[in-house]
Amino acid sequence: MKNNHKLTSIPKIFEMQQVIDPKFLKDEIEKISSFGNRWVGSEGEKSTRRYLFKRFQELGLEDVEIEEFDCLRYTPKHSKLSVETPLQETIPCFPLEYSGDGVVKGEIVYVADGSEESIRALKDLGYSLEGKIALLLSDTPAFRIPKLLEEGVAGFVVATDAPEDLIPALAAKTYPPELEDPMRWRLTVPGVIISRKSLHRLLSLMSVGKVIVEIRHESEYSIEKTGNVIGILKGLEEERMIVVGAHYDSQIKGIGVWDNLTGTSLLLALAQFFRSKRLKKSLVFIAFGAEEIGLWGSTVYVENHLDELKEKCLCMLCMDAVSSAYPAERSLWSEGWLKDFIMKVCEENGVSIENTHRLNLSYSDYYPFKVKGIPSAMLWEHPPVNPYYHTEKDTIRYVDVNKLAFMGTLYAKIISSLDEL
Ligand SMILES: [Zn+2]
Repeated sequence: MKNNHKLTSIPKIFEMQQVIDPKFLKDEIEKISSFGNRWVGSEGEKSTRRYLFKRFQELGLEDVEIEEFDCLRYTPKHSKLSVETPLQETIPCFPLEYSGDGVVKGEIVYVADGSEESIRALKDLGYSLEGKIALLLSDTPAFRIPKLLEEGVAGFVVATDAPEDLIPALAAKTYPPELEDPMRWRLTVPGVIISRKSLHRLLSLMSVGKVIVEIRHESEYSIEKTGNVIGILKGLEEERMIVVGAHYDSQIKGIGVWDNLTGTSLLLALAQFFRSKRLKKSLVFIAFGAEEIGLWGSTVYVENHLDELKEKCLCMLCMDAVSSAYPAERSLWSEGWLKDFIMKVCEENGVSIENTHRLNLSYSDYYPFKVKGIPSAMLWEHPPVNPYYHTEKDTIRYVDVNKLAFMGTLYAKIISSLDEL
């Protein structure tokens, strides 16, 4: 990664009065951290849900409820990738999230980034992917897998540019999840993930001739009950609303402080800050469940409340991995009028946004809203990512609560400005 990123500091000429208390954030982070790991279906996840329900009530939110839903939990067990021809060799790999269990053997075909264009280029040469193992280089294989399955591929080897120790955490996250029958969401064929170095090894073998590989993938699938915690601060004009959301689940390892107790603690802090204000619009605070394994909670919410959202919702603000102790760029992911509006609010308050991004990737809970045409935004620090992202090391040690409180104040300023519209 590049080293020339600017340090996200608290601007000296910052004109806003700081309204979020770092101590409040620290206390909430420490409290929720004490519940342990929050992987879907874990005890820590259940305790966190109960705790957030109680806190929403204590903070004076109205109509506090837990919107329950079923989701498909995937737990990786084992994976193996072996080259059988032209020589025998094992390539290091990780299980591809949500892929099918079993063993499959076949000729490997490099489909580049797996885009429709790449597939067509192969087909134009008279090449069929039927029964072949697709080798692709992609950090978002979820977007490529459906089309490749249609072509009849028998397995996936996905190469990623993610650093070696982040590979398992950046596995395929498919979207949209299958809400009606979660079990159906499991891919029909097995898959593994490899590093770019291993991709080069396979490509060099393929340059000599046909390469046959065997993929083995074992995992555990279960249906888990989970839920979104929802609470409302009713505004003077109840017919207009702003959704403020943050997921509270974590990856399978660790207690996920940066991702996402930063967003979860800010959700509580913003509820506390705005409860004494008489806003025009209603603020709907949502702690989403099951984000890490495919945006289940936000997809369920959008599905269940679509008419209300279309009629009343001005926009959705997503808080995910908001701020760490690491130097990074301040980044706004948004589109259209909302992006311009937030950029203007930041500029007026002397806050620079070093990086902007469209909402074309299903990286967090803004995505199901965006897909249904609800203006959405996520303000966070990226790149580079916290090196401890999605690992056991994602603890409070690597989060600077002062910097987080600053981001919270910025969110508060944005919400106040949106309320004036
Ligand atoms: Zn997250």
